[in-house]
Amino acid sequence: MGDIEQEHELAGFSTRAIHAGQEPDPTTGAVVTPISLSTTFAQDGVGNHKGFEYSRSGNPTRTAVDTQIASLEEARYGMSFASGLAAEDNILRVLKQGQRVLLGNDAYGGTFRLIANVWSPMGYPWSAVDLTDLDGLRANWPDDTGMIWLETPTNPLLTCFDIEAIAAIAHERGAIVVVDNTFATPYLQQPITLGADIVVHSATKYLGGHSDVVGGFVATSNDELAEKIAYTQNAAGAVPSPFDSYLVLRGVKTLAIRMDRHCQNARAIVDLLVDHPAIERVLYPQLPDHPGHEAAAKQMKDFGGMVSFQVKAGRDAAMRVADATSIFTLAESLGAVESLIEHPAAMTHMSAAGSPLEVPDNLVRLSVGIEDSHDLVDDLAQALDSI
Ligand SMILES: *Cc1c(COP(=O)(O)O)cnc(C)c1O
Repeated sequence: MGDIEQEHELAGFSTRAIHAGQEPDPTTGAVVTPISLSTTFAQDGVGNHKGFEYSRSGNPTRTAVDTQIASLEEARYGMSFASGLAAEDNILRVLKQGQRVLLGNDAYGGTFRLIANVWSPMGYPWSAVDLTDLDGLRANWPDDTGMIWLETPTNPLLTCFDIEAIAAIAHERGAIVVVDNTFATPYLQQPITLGADIVVHSATKYLGGHSDVVGGFVATSNDELAEKIAYTQNAAGAVPSPFDSYLVLRGVKTLAIRMDRHCQNARAIVDLLVDHPAIERVLYPQLPDHPGHEAAAKQMKDFGGMVSFQVKAGRDAAMRVADATSIFTLAESLGAVESLIEHPAAMTHMSAAGSPLEVPDNLVRLSVGIEDSHDLVDDLAQALDSI
């Protein structure tokens, strides 16, 4: 578990991304954090060690990335996991049996599956809530709620929610607020500074940023929650390998410049889509009529690299668009340098079919990469013209 270093607390975002937790190696002077493969660490006397004993419990490469990302989230503690879902599973373990999870009614399909199909049968009830309706949330708050779980922007509808307002409602009622910050990343939004108790990431996406590592991350500034999650991290053991930790550490160094380019390219794509005759609706938080636009404008530095749209001609046409691009690769996942296109109802969100989290079947989701924007615009334009 990395603890944010005081000296980096006031430095700028990219300075922290490149230096927090990453001092040159004291024995060799290596500027790049070594990949520490040793599973065990020599002790000077029984119980007298240098901070590391056994690599599941703590590993130097992992500590570097824990410190780096915690610093970017302006959180006191950070913990890396083997995947985003492993991180989520460890967060859910802070609940007591019988406590309810309120899940925003648009969320990553795997989060829904974990809460509804794995945790709920073990005695942790859940319900889906519309988090754009704060009066409704206050009025219909279930008394057994222990945790409210939200994404903003959501996957795949990109709805945005007011983290500060939701945190105030939840805290008045004694519930913990978890924000999945995978889509925004700490560069665009820092939920802990807005009142969230826990931030969770799929590091597989923008943090890693190159589609070559699966990872998860938890950040919190709450001592008690940090202690509980660190305990189960070690007890249940869903830790990332040193090499995976290194890949995330390396990816995060360029997060700010990648995110700026993702946002810029996404805007070029949105400009194409809003005027296109084949498009029924464009979903992007910057659009003034987008659900949660005001919350996004208030709490985000920019609007992100994810763009979704609905095709007028329906499901089959949406699938044909996803098939017809050549630079946008038809694939699941998101958040890396290369642009991806997918059909959520048939791919990432199939597990939500028939649930309150079901997504429209004429929806296409784009993860806009950092290629040259004119190539991306041309590619999508020819795909839309071909359907
Ligand atoms: C991918 C994703 C996850 C799950 O993360 P994995 O690393 O695939 O386990 C969770 N939340 C969101 C928003 C995601 O996009």
